[in-house]
Amino acid sequence: MEEEKKKIKKPLGVARLLPSKCIACGARCQSVCSRKAIEMSESGEPIIDITRCSGCRRCIKICPAEALEIYYTPEQQKLLDEIAKMEAEGAAKAVVAEADEDFEEDALPKGHGEYRGLWVFVEQVDGEPATVAWELLGVGSQLARELNVETAAVIIGDKVENLCQEAIAYGADKVYLIEHPVFRYYRTEPYFRALCDLVRKYKPEIMLVGATGVGRDLAGAVATDLKTGLTADCTGLAVDSDRRLLMQTRPAFGGNIMATIVTEKTWPQMSTVRPHTFRLPEKDTTRKGEIIREVTGIKESELCTKVVEIIQRNSGGVDVASADIIISGGRGMQHPDNFKILQELADELGGVVACSRAAVDSGWMPAERQVGQTGKTVRPKIYFACGISGAIQHLVGMQNSDIIIAINRDKHAPIFEVAHYGLVGDLFKIVPSLTKQIKELRAKSKA
Ligand SMILES: Cc1cc2nc3c(=O)[nH]c(=O)nc-3n(C[C@H](O)[C@H](O)[C@H](O)COP(=O)(O)OP(=O)(O)OC[C@H]3O[C@@H](n4cnc5c(N)ncnc54)[C@H](O)[C@@H]3O)c2cc1C
Repeated sequence: MEEEKKKIKKPLGVARLLPSKCIACGARCQSVCSRKAIEMSESGEPIIDITRCSGCRRCIKICPAEALEIYYTPEQQKLLDEIAKMEAEGAAKAVVAEADEDFEEDALPKGHGEYRGLWVFVEQVDGEPATVAWELLGVGSQLARELNVETAAVIIGDKVENLCQEAIAYGADKVYLIEHPVFRYYRTEPYFRALCDLVRKYKPEIMLVGATGVGRDLAGAVATDLKTGLTADCTGLAVDSDRRLLMQTRPAFGGNIMATIVTEKTWPQMSTVRPHTFRLPEKDTTRKGEIIREVTGIKESELCTKVVEIIQRNSGGVDVASADIIISGGRGMQHPDNFKILQELADELGGVVACSRAAVDSGWMPAERQVGQTGKTVRPKIYFACGISGAIQHLVGMQNSDIIIAINRDKHAPIFEVAHYGLVGDLFKIVPSLTKQIKELRAKSKA
């Protein structure tokens, strides 16, 4: 009979590192361990204290590189085999796991219960959406699925209703729409007040904003008013679904480490993310979603700032951030005139020339061409790094490129660790030779 079956406690094992897989992502595993069983080594890898590990698997779930696994001692493995056998024979009742009992109670901070859902702010200028909003809807809807909540887009502007369906197509389940002439042009005051009003009413647990000029300004004002945490310029986002925490990874201490930051006790948990950090999701125009129209009580007469004139800045016609092919040069270019060999290759491939900060600091290239932590974040189909060593501050701006081709005479240069193809040698020989060969191939295919 069912009642007579034996109850057995199932061993949970302990976490174990697979060192070859660890990518030193920024101590995500350590940040989710409630038992303080994980310390980080100098190289950023976890050291697990198995006497403290309860086998809760939280670190395993959060690891982006599948670099942690569960280890059972031979005795535990034997017991597991016996349990499996007894279950198969019907001799054991549903097996009870040894739970991490003291964790769950204090895992969710008080007050979190009211806050649910993930929001993405959709920035627009003259009704033209910023693509970063769609990128954030892509990553946001994946995170929301893990938390089992809805993804909502927030659209504020004047005559911007047309953006609602687009937001739904990119992954929003819901759209909160506020339309009014006071939102014709971006100004901090009306936008932050409108967004704060929405947050106080609907209480999202996470809010993502593009790290554009507008987004940085707005997110800072909103977080200050709501007295919540904001992590700027995140390069990685994940969730700890047990504690419902957004794991926000970004360079810290001058880019020397990647830190994973959590906002544990205030909501919403807010992050800004630079354009091109995440991939643009596929647009699905058949998706259906709900549009919630909200009205605003904000009046033009109450506002301190008036928009008198809009002056477009001339960027010289080259948009490094949205280029598909980038030929980037660093200190190894040695002289500003030498960038012309990169321009020749770029012209041949239909790409643009960019650079490292060393090239900007030397006065060889303008600042708007700089890639990296204090420059642009790029995600081209092909990124050539010519005479660039691969400092972390440069890598964070280009490491998500589809294909990275590095040319460097130092075979130990860190750029080769992220490169898909590496050419060790003198760039002054390699680059012109590549251009020449491409030209010849083109001519042959035309003939
Ligand atoms: C807070 C902060 C923010 C920063 N932000 C950025 C940023 O946004 N972007 C950025 O790029 N950096 C940034 N940096 C600077 C960064 O740390 C590096 O100093 C910089 O990226 C180095 O540029 P580089 O690789 O061109 O120069 P180097 O590190 O000097 O490397 C030059 C490379 O060229 C190679 N080389 C030389 N001659 C040849 C040749 N003939 N053929 C082939 N290879 C050759 C060398 O082997 C070497 O690897 C930042 C630093 C800090 C502290």
